Amino acid sequence: MNNSSQPLANQVAIVTGASSGIGAAVAKALAAAGAAVAVNYSGHAEGADDVVQSIEQAGGRAFSVHADVSREDQVQAMFAQTIERYGTVHILVANAGLQQDANFLDMSLAQWQKVIDVNLTGQFLCAREAAREFVRRGVQPAISKAAGKIICMSSVHEVIPWAGHVNYAASKGGVMLLMKSMAQELAPHRIRVNSIGPGAIATPINQEARDTPEEERDLLRLIPYGRIGEPEDIARVAAWLASDEADYITGTTIFADGGMLLYPGFESGG
Ligand code: NAD
Repeated sequence: MNNSSQPLANQVAIVTGASSGIGAAVAKALAAAGAAVAVNYSGHAEGADDVVQSIEQAGGRAFSVHADVSREDQVQAMFAQTIERYGTVHILVANAGLQQDANFLDMSLAQWQKVIDVNLTGQFLCAREAAREFVRRGVQPAISKAAGKIICMSSVHEVIPWAGHVNYAASKGGVMLLMKSMAQELAPHRIRVNSIGPGAIATPINQEARDTPEEERDLLRLIPYGRIGEPEDIARVAAWLASDEADYITGTTIFADGGMLLYPGFESGG
């Protein structure tokens, strides 16, 4: 039964791209809140196994599951394995994502396609499987007020244009209307769909952009709050958004960005 320290007790979550960075922190936070977690990875298993181990050491439940989120058959197999193990799924955090940066004039179709396939089509495939399971099972009032919760990992770049990264910005802009349209269509089934829009969070995805003090200083200029975010800043939002505390929230993006969307370039009046 749910209680205040374990608001996700008796729930099952799938977190994609959970072997590193934000996904790993989200998996740990959901487990600490009481959920059994499927820790998805697409490359080597080690990172995901480490996350599972750390969850188990803290007294939680988790297992690692392989799937390339851009492959329909692998996504369906991931859901089947999770349901076989834990009975159902209540929470999806569609977090897997990547960058393949290039100036627009030089961007190859392969770079464009790879980012759209993983960041946008991957979210569609995972969300569709999750929604099918939520609708099949319906609301279990003793477990959660909602039949299911879908959290899309978006970015401030669902609204901020990003030169040199048009594939990434287009994928996250796509996630915004994918999320809102799903929220509209699925609300009658008591399924909540929301996004988290992180700003700059210290993870492997942006290691290069933080590698030198000059680059880090340039990045900090974009963040009024004066610090780069930590994966746990995002994980706390995910755990809350998945809980019944957020039961009336659907179809929105919660930005956790230290004020990046305040357009600090205009702070002196433009
Ligand atoms: P990360 O590189 O540590 O994590 C991305 C994860 O996705 C990795 O574990 C990777 O293995 C996995 N992945 C990549 N392709 C996959 C595929 N085809 N199938 C399954 N998994 C796959 O970086 P991160 O910063 O933790 O990124 C997580 C999410 O947060 C991404 O969607 C990213 O766009 C978003 N985000 C990150 C930041 C940031 O500043 N770090 C800001 C905004 C949004």
